[in-house]
Amino acid sequence: MAADTLPLDVLDVVIVGAGITGLSTGLALQQSGMKCIVIEAHNIGFGTTGGTSAHLNTMLDLPYDEMISKHGKDNATLVARGAREALARIRQWSGAYAPSCNFKEQDAYMFATTDEQAEALKNLVEGTRSVGLDAELVDNMLPYFKFLKAARFGGQASFHPTRYLMGIAEAFRAVGGQVKENCSVLDVDTSDSGSLKIQTSLGPVRAKNLIYATHVPPGVNILHFRNAPYRSYVLAAKLEAGADPLGALVYDMEEPYHYYRMAEVDGDRFLVAGGCDHKTAEGNELAQARKLEAHVRSLFPVAELTHQWSSQFFEPTDGLPYIGRLPMSDERILVGTGYSGTGLTYGTLASIVLTDLLVKGESPYQDVFKPSRVSMVAGFSNFVKEAADVVGHLVAAPFPEQKITDLGDLAKGEGRLIQHDGKSIGLFRDETGELHGVSPACSHIKCTVAWNAQERSWDCPCHGSRFDLDGNVLTAPARKPLQKISFIGDRAVPE
Ligand SMILES: Cc1cc2nc3c(=O)[nH]c(=O)nc-3n(C[C@H](O)[C@H](O)[C@H](O)COP(=O)(O)OP(=O)(O)OC[C@H]3O[C@@H](n4cnc5c(N)ncnc54)[C@H](O)[C@@H]3O)c2cc1C
Repeated sequence: MAADTLPLDVLDVVIVGAGITGLSTGLALQQSGMKCIVIEAHNIGFGTTGGTSAHLNTMLDLPYDEMISKHGKDNATLVARGAREALARIRQWSGAYAPSCNFKEQDAYMFATTDEQAEALKNLVEGTRSVGLDAELVDNMLPYFKFLKAARFGGQASFHPTRYLMGIAEAFRAVGGQVKENCSVLDVDTSDSGSLKIQTSLGPVRAKNLIYATHVPPGVNILHFRNAPYRSYVLAAKLEAGADPLGALVYDMEEPYHYYRMAEVDGDRFLVAGGCDHKTAEGNELAQARKLEAHVRSLFPVAELTHQWSSQFFEPTDGLPYIGRLPMSDERILVGTGYSGTGLTYGTLASIVLTDLLVKGESPYQDVFKPSRVSMVAGFSNFVKEAADVVGHLVAAPFPEQKITDLGDLAKGEGRLIQHDGKSIGLFRDETGELHGVSPACSHIKCTVAWNAQERSWDCPCHGSRFDLDGNVLTAPARKPLQKISFIGDRAVPE
């Protein structure tokens, strides 16, 4: 296949997105005898998998005690089994296809600093044990952390996420799979019962099935109202010589919580710490990054801060992901989304579930993760609040031509919404002084986007679409760019 062409024959599966979900699913399907292509709008690992903190957990964001009370013991036990299966797959594939990803099995510790947290931790340990996983309350933990109660969870791990992706992408190609980067899937024509006609930025491709491994599916779907977008912050730092290395994954129980681990890359050792999560576009990103840095410096002897970044994840309505056939759509279209902060586990589990659905026609996990399940919002008060927020953001109006008078105070490198004649314009001034203007009405369903000063993007608080400073789509669900605004003298002109 030439670099800029797509296959002409009808494939078994087109997989959209080359993160952990897409590449794991591509490899599993191709190994099962299906002919697949993974189509990626940017490059391998461009999405959240490239910005993850790479803890590999069977202890998931929805604590097992809560999962049992909301979804029942049988379902929680099934989810725990799935998480174990996912980690076993990552362990096996790391060894076989990505030895340089430094997969490392280790314990995880969670610690409580208040009586209320201690009670929650005790319940979490009981819930985790009751679904068959290794968990216990302990008296001793690692250095650096003061705690009232602590717990150890066995069988967790970490790895280098992009090295893992590169390894499984190579393994996928080696068994005949194709990866097409810099190619966006734009639309899917379902009118032919024989095959789907998939429109991409490089032309059409045909397949019997399509999987959206795009973190959240593009277009407008009921799942967008069952997932709330969040941003989380991560940093990497070198500790002073002689500082104790963390020999485990660690989590506190603050709201939002912090997470810590060590990473070894080409002989260099880093502390990787994260947290300070907030609903997308509802925090000051630079301030949150500084807050995380101050928190880490208060705990560890930091010699050098080497990396800082943030990325987005999706919180599902009822705490469990949506994996299976895309609701209210053609049954040949499947999806994996709603992974919370444990999407490396769930994305890998999605590859197992989706492969079984397409190859065998069924999966033991098909009901618990069914995307069309009736969501049990009751009891998940966070989500109800988040969903309600969407209404408040649905205020952006179409942009009329208007005169701009108040741009003088926009500094180089600064972006923000400018109010003018009761309308908003999204403006960014680059380092050369040039202005980049967009209409802030998200092209998905017209929520108002906000400027993300850390990642330099326009982010939608409602459903998580992200756009670059010229309005081009960075991440789904939006398919179309923001309307661009250019400047002629002091007049702003929609393009
Ligand atoms: C800061 C942070 C830390 C995290 N830490 C952890 C952790 O420690 N452990 C854990 O388990 N989980 C963690 N998570 C969650 C986890 O990283 C994600 O859930 C997971 O990486 C999602 O993988 P994915 O393959 O589904 O999506 P992504 O990695 O986002 O990949 C989706 C891909 O689809 C592509 N795409 C989108 N639309 C199109 C289109 N129309 N055409 C073609 N391509 C398209 C995108 O470019 C992207 O590359 C963290 C999340 C965040 C934000």
